[in-house]
Amino acid sequence: MVIRVNYDADDNLSIEKVSEICLKCGVCCVVKEHACHAQLDSQFHPQYTYVYDCLGAESPSYNPNIWLCVSCHKCEELCPYGVSPIRFIESMKAKAFEEGLAHPVIFGEVTNVVSTAFAFPLTASSRRHRQQMGLSPLDESGADDLKKIADKTGLSIKIRQYRGKKQ
Ligand code: SF4
Ligand code: SF4
Repeated sequence: MVIRVNYDADDNLSIEKVSEICLKCGVCCVVKEHACHAQLDSQFHPQYTYVYDCLGAESPSYNPNIWLCVSCHKCEELCPYGVSPIRFIESMKAKAFEEGLAHPVIFGEVTNVVSTAFAFPLTASSRRHRQQMGLSPLDESGADDLKKIADKTGLSIKIRQYRGKKQ
């Protein structure tokens, strides 16, 4: 039976404990064609994998490499020992976001989604191209609901704080 381990950003899970859970077998990062895509980055190799880098970092939420994870869940599916690196990494991303440590690109993406309801910038050019291709205009009405959600969850405050830091 596989026992899934739950990680929580508020758990203050010690690095030692995470290291104990992961047996450093490397399977999640070195199985050809099925492994973690972040492993392709040149700083990683079979003896030092992406997952070790994330789980073993001294301050995981400060590790910029956590943003290389695209949340594909392959590591979770491949791990023979029931470890779920993605859950740990996602918790660390949430912690980093809370602490204002998220990569600027991530803050930019989140800001764009909250203000437009789309993950990509809506430009005059993109609207024109849709029209030229005979596509209907995009429905931008979701932005109002997202703004309400962002206000209620405190995300709007985080975005404002981040903008304040940049200025
Ligand atoms: S979820 Fe993240 S860590 Fe896991 S395989 Fe995908 S990219 Fe790699
Ligand atoms: S997360 Fe699982 S598959 Fe990956 S190195 Fe650790 S024990 Fe091995």
